[in-house]
Amino acid sequence: MVKIGAHMPISKGFDRVPADTVGIGGNAFQIFPHNARSWKAGLPSEEVARKFKREMAKQKIDWENAFCHCGYLVNLASPKEDIWESSVELLKVEIEICRKLGIKYLNIHPGSHLGSGEDEGIERIARGLNKVLNETDEVVILLENVSQKGGNIGYRLDQLKRIVDLVDQKERVAITYDTCHGFDSGYDITKREGVTRLLEEIDRLFGLEKLKMIHLNDSKYPLGAAKDRHERIGEGFIGRQGFAVFFSFKEIQRVPWILETPGGNEEHKEDIERVFEILREFGIEVE
Ligand code: ZN
Ligand code: MN
Ligand code: MN
Repeated sequence: MVKIGAHMPISKGFDRVPADTVGIGGNAFQIFPHNARSWKAGLPSEEVARKFKREMAKQKIDWENAFCHCGYLVNLASPKEDIWESSVELLKVEIEICRKLGIKYLNIHPGSHLGSGEDEGIERIARGLNKVLNETDEVVILLENVSQKGGNIGYRLDQLKRIVDLVDQKERVAITYDTCHGFDSGYDITKREGVTRLLEEIDRLFGLEKLKMIHLNDSKYPLGAAKDRHERIGEGFIGRQGFAVFFSFKEIQRVPWILETPGGNEEHKEDIERVFEILREFGIEVE
């Protein structure tokens, strides 16, 4: 069975997300745990948490397929002490929101060193992650590969590995692979050899079982462009044929695919239909 869904709005409440997910043809989702543009985040009430869990059961969504994505302001690599501290504190609250809702995974961008250099950035991220993990419980942090722009760390998988190596609680860190960001960094998943190489790299660095989510995005720009412009499925430089290659790997089919493509629920519904069209058109069997 394909595990697929999209980044869903929470504006109508957490409890609406499971049914809205099914409404767009999905069985997996990602949400922000609070207003992503704000440093402020409050815990959901008991009532909201109960309703959300009831909806998860009613809509039969597997907890392995439910993800939170950290707010936009979080930057654990920041050389500004106050931003680093606020980021640690906000991530701790985000983890508490996840726990309250029952969500097991919080996806984060490793961070931007803002010119202070990669080594220093990685050291700060690891120090921040250790503080966050040591002062919370249960929730697993997913480090997402990002696009190489603005001092971002984690556009290559070996950078994510350097961070993981410095984390104490290794069982509480895992990986998200974003197809647009990866394409931006030169990972050519439109070719079988490219996907094979990617999977070998993930396996060698982390172990394949550490790949918990795929952010399924086409790219508005060609291979290696480092622009971070997501495109709708099949309309970008990865394209229908490229995704067909990517989808044909069992190791990829095992992981939930979450769309972060332009548009809202309507467009995501169409993009999910397109994914199934591609699977049919290219005769790809999914276990
Ligand atoms: Zn992201
Ligand atoms: Mn992403
Ligand atoms: Mn992006």
